[in-house]
Amino acid sequence: MRNGGGANLPRLEAAIIGAGPAGAMAALSLKRSMPNSNVHLIERLDEGKYPRYHKMCGEGISRKGLELLDIDYDKFVVNRISRAIEHWPGGIDIETALDGLIIDRPGLLNALMEEFRSRGGEIIRGNLHDIDITRKGVRSKLSDGSTLTTDYLVGADGSRSLVREKIFGEQDIDLIWTEQYVLKGNGPRDAIEFFYDERYKGGYRWSFPNGENTRIGFPKGTDAAPGDALEMHRRAIPIGTVKRLVLGGICLVGDAAAQANPLTFGGLRTAFTAGWMAGEAIAREDLGSYQDLWRSSPYADPIFKRGYDMICAMDNEQLRVSVEPFRKGYTGARATLAMLRQPKYLQLYRSFERSMEFGW
Ligand SMILES: Cc1cc2nc3c(=O)[nH]c(=O)nc-3n(C[C@H](O)[C@H](O)[C@H](O)COP(=O)(O)OP(=O)(O)OC[C@H]3O[C@@H](n4cnc5c(N)ncnc54)[C@H](O)[C@@H]3O)c2cc1C
Repeated sequence: MRNGGGANLPRLEAAIIGAGPAGAMAALSLKRSMPNSNVHLIERLDEGKYPRYHKMCGEGISRKGLELLDIDYDKFVVNRISRAIEHWPGGIDIETALDGLIIDRPGLLNALMEEFRSRGGEIIRGNLHDIDITRKGVRSKLSDGSTLTTDYLVGADGSRSLVREKIFGEQDIDLIWTEQYVLKGNGPRDAIEFFYDERYKGGYRWSFPNGENTRIGFPKGTDAAPGDALEMHRRAIPIGTVKRLVLGGICLVGDAAAQANPLTFGGLRTAFTAGWMAGEAIAREDLGSYQDLWRSSPYADPIFKRGYDMICAMDNEQLRVSVEPFRKGYTGARATLAMLRQPKYLQLYRSFERSMEFGW
């Protein structure tokens, strides 16, 4: 509830639903920008289940993606990534230099929450069960029967978002169900690997180092499960961004808004970025500006979805032909030549080029 302008009274109240990358960042950026706001971060998982849920990820992110957080992330680095190796049909293997990290995601999220708490933010362990809009603000009802009425509500509650369902209704997004396995490590510790094939239906198989172990994954049912997995994860990655991100004082961020990059499926950087944008917009008391900012950002470039749609429609021979010009590696000169010689793949080339910079 808004409380006038007294020096010790909060300027505004906000509830952030979900303490994943999007919600933790939204809560922290709001508190950083407006110290006298009352911010409640509501997370359904207890301290035991929370790390397990957030480990179900490749945990790979570019260094640029982490720099946005403005915290000391060094102690959460598990592997330093300096190369991507792509394997394409026709025996084409392409290696590219990268600057990225495999992070201890639960540790990093806890650090964001710790700073949030130290700035006076409140973390509530509770499950959002229902929402309604009243004359006094947005009322969140939790499963334990308690309620909370706030000026703003941020839906950062992941791919199966209740906020999206209750407030924003049907949305035209694709849920890419994936399976991921943790294996005893082998393979390079400084490289992330991608295997492209028509069997992955527009996606790919990935192999990411994780300390001494390796995580491999692919769209659900497109490849055989390894027999010797230490753990198995099943989760959906939503892509295709919802049409509306803001309705009155309510907004969606991260997977709730299907903001993962459609070509790379990278959702950490986009979730952190959208959370940061939403937190700042609330601090300006102009939530609508978050939607404009997101839509005009390079993360929301429609080229990524176009690239994904093209890959979905390609068979192995077309995949091979499209990357043939890059057999000896990606360079600007080869990209220009490829665009001139194979204009039908122009959008695909552009989407891969953009994804190197903004896709993870
Ligand atoms: C197998 C797999 C591997 C991936 N690998 C990578 C990768 O290597 N790099 C990358 O960039 N992206 C990766 N992604 C994508 C990335 O994990 C997601 O895009 C990212 O987690 C989105 O963050 P989020 O905060 O929006 O949602 P989430 O991380 O899902 O967080 C949502 C939070 O909301 C809480 N919550 C949900 N409902 C409620 C409720 N009703 N009440 C209260 N709290 C609630 C949840 O418990 C959770 O803590 C991967 C995804 C998958 C499935």
